[in-house]
Amino acid sequence: MREIIDIPLDATLPPVDAVLKGQGIPDGITPDKRIIDLARDAISLYKEFAKPRGVRIVISIADFESIYFGEGHNEPETPLYNIYTSSSDLALFAVTIGDDICAEITRLFDTNDFALGAMLDSAASEGTEMAAQLLEDHYRKYLKDDNRLDLNSAVIRYSPGYCGWHISAQKKLFGFLKPEEIGIELGESYLMNPLKSISGVLISGAMDIFDFDTTFSFCRDCETLSCWDRLNENINQ
Ligand code: SF4
Repeated sequence: MREIIDIPLDATLPPVDAVLKGQGIPDGITPDKRIIDLARDAISLYKEFAKPRGVRIVISIADFESIYFGEGHNEPETPLYNIYTSSSDLALFAVTIGDDICAEITRLFDTNDFALGAMLDSAASEGTEMAAQLLEDHYRKYLKDDNRLDLNSAVIRYSPGYCGWHISAQKKLFGFLKPEEIGIELGESYLMNPLKSISGVLISGAMDIFDFDTTFSFCRDCETLSCWDRLNENINQ
């Protein structure tokens, strides 16, 4: 089943703290009022220009296999392989906040308004993450309503380009999902246009399939450890 999902703009409005964090200002630090005003101006522009939308399609484990292997450039071992082969349900997804906001960021940089341009770039990145989270929540509700999710299950999303899953997998993912319908095109180097877009796979399964040792070679350079954050968020739901 394929579904286009209209995401409420207000639900993706990034908070000031998150926009500032995207600019490298850590939690607990109160910056100068001018910086806070700039973040607020960026959020106002976000509200004016962002148009969040998403698309999701249910996919079987057998059909996902060719998307996972993509163009054959994955790391030899990845957490995603072990997770999806043990999963209960899968869906491909893509979200975007649209082209207009990306054009506004470019316009601000082109007119030398670097401070507001950089702040809007942070707001747009955070808003895109929030849109992806909303799509994940939407899928969780869909599974719950269908009695396919219990208290010991989790839903977590993964994207090509991370954790050993090569970005070239985007090619087959796009072929199956067809996110062009919501305005997302696949460009050179497998980057998406608009840039403020996220695509990947939503995976549902028993909580313990998402629990693994972060001893893969690519984990050595990982600064986020986001796999742990995402599992903890599920435990707390
Ligand atoms: S530690 Fe980082 S690179 Fe390794 S699986 Fe977790 S998020 Fe991915």
